[in-house]
Amino acid sequence: MTEVTINKQARLSEHLTSSSVATLGNSNKLDCSRLSPHFTLGELCKTSAKTPDGNIPSHVHIENLKRLCGWLEELRERYNLRYVLPLSRGSQRGSDPPHCSPAQTTPNPSYSGGEASGRGSEDPIIINSGYRSEAVNKAVGGVKGSNHLTGCAADIRVAGIEQLIRYATILLDISDESQEDFDELLLERNKSGAIWLHFAVRPKNNRRKTMFLQK
Ligand SMILES: [Zn+2]
Repeated sequence: MTEVTINKQARLSEHLTSSSVATLGNSNKLDCSRLSPHFTLGELCKTSAKTPDGNIPSHVHIENLKRLCGWLEELRERYNLRYVLPLSRGSQRGSDPPHCSPAQTTPNPSYSGGEASGRGSEDPIIINSGYRSEAVNKAVGGVKGSNHLTGCAADIRVAGIEQLIRYATILLDISDESQEDFDELLLERNKSGAIWLHFAVRPKNNRRKTMFLQK
């Protein structure tokens, strides 16, 4: 058990401190610059808002996005280890309830962060909205002073309430185990019933705000 904990913490700190190269070169490079192994600057800056500013983050914002992506990498890895890879290997016993069961946290030593062996593959974490310039934030109806403005927040797409709860639970686990705080973990729902997870990490003064928000 001790060994498992150590391994987990080692992986965690690797993700939370990982800094890959992302540079503000021309806009083509911007799209595919990696913030972390599975997340690009393009994914974290895309927007449907048509604003003239191009929604370009500063270097400080990019550092914030990288920090956030450390958490998203860990979320991705744990989600796949718990819920996706066991099913794709066909090793899940039918008696396991589909939800509310204690999460399986045993790391898989053969997992390398790449493609799963065999026929299964990993599920991505899909970002609906990450960095937003003032103009974009205004255009999409974001709140004043939003963590999106500094590259500290991401809205994560979910397939339903079950995935929303799973993501939120994993992020809380990561925070507890790493003793790193996040700023916001908001389960959000709009008037049309769409749901998503808003997750934010600041460089400091993280408030660990957790709530369900109806917009
Ligand atoms: Zn948000």
